[in-house]
Amino acid sequence: MNGDPTLQQRYETVLARIRAACTAAARAPDAVSLLAVSKTFDASAVLALAALGQRAFAESYLQEALDKISRCASERPDPALEWHFIGPIQSNKTRPIAETFSWVHSVERDKIARRLSEQRPASLPPLNVCVQVNVSGEASKSGCAPDEALDLARAVAALPGLRLRGVMAIPEPTDDVARQRAQFAAVRAVFDRVRAAGLDVDTLSMGMSDDLEAAIAEGSTCVRVGTALFGRRG
Ligand SMILES: *Cc1c(COP(=O)(O)O)cnc(C)c1O
Repeated sequence: MNGDPTLQQRYETVLARIRAACTAAARAPDAVSLLAVSKTFDASAVLALAALGQRAFAESYLQEALDKISRCASERPDPALEWHFIGPIQSNKTRPIAETFSWVHSVERDKIARRLSEQRPASLPPLNVCVQVNVSGEASKSGCAPDEALDLARAVAALPGLRLRGVMAIPEPTDDVARQRAQFAAVRAVFDRVRAAGLDVDTLSMGMSDDLEAAIAEGSTCVRVGTALFGRRG
């Protein structure tokens, strides 16, 4: 036994953590899906994890993502990987996002939603959208305020070419598990309010390498994991 864990060992460890957290929360073992966050890692890392069975990958930086996605598509066209955009979106960069990704988790204002809707090619299925919410106040600049989320979700749901799926958040990082839980509970409350308003949502995108257990305890259906799979980013 020597050296770092292999990619396969890290993948199995993450899947086991998700299953254990589901069990601890009395949730079905398949209630939570894993989104592999491959930002800063190259196409070969994506393809290696895809070969182990992972299909959904997420990126935060558009140009890096576009290069990687085309490399992966030429080397592994079938079955296609599913790409999620999770980074900040500038309004002049919406077109390649609308044309390339299956999901966008980081829609935080109307204007971006409208542009994605207009630019989604009719030949593709609707773009799956999560509304990003900021539950950490001043500590984070990304995401709409919790009391704006329902209006934004309604706007997304009404736009052609988009399919509202749920709510995403990146709470302020903390080692304090009680604080993690409180922030995730606040995201969950936003999700519940959107659903109670009659919107058809199924995705609560929250939890990362260091806090996925707390997120799953509070109802996450999709954890976004980078470091625990691919290692520390350079
Ligand atoms: C980078 C990133 C992640 C993954 O974070 P890790 O701590 O490396 O697991 C998840 N979500 C978003 C939005 C990110 O930007």
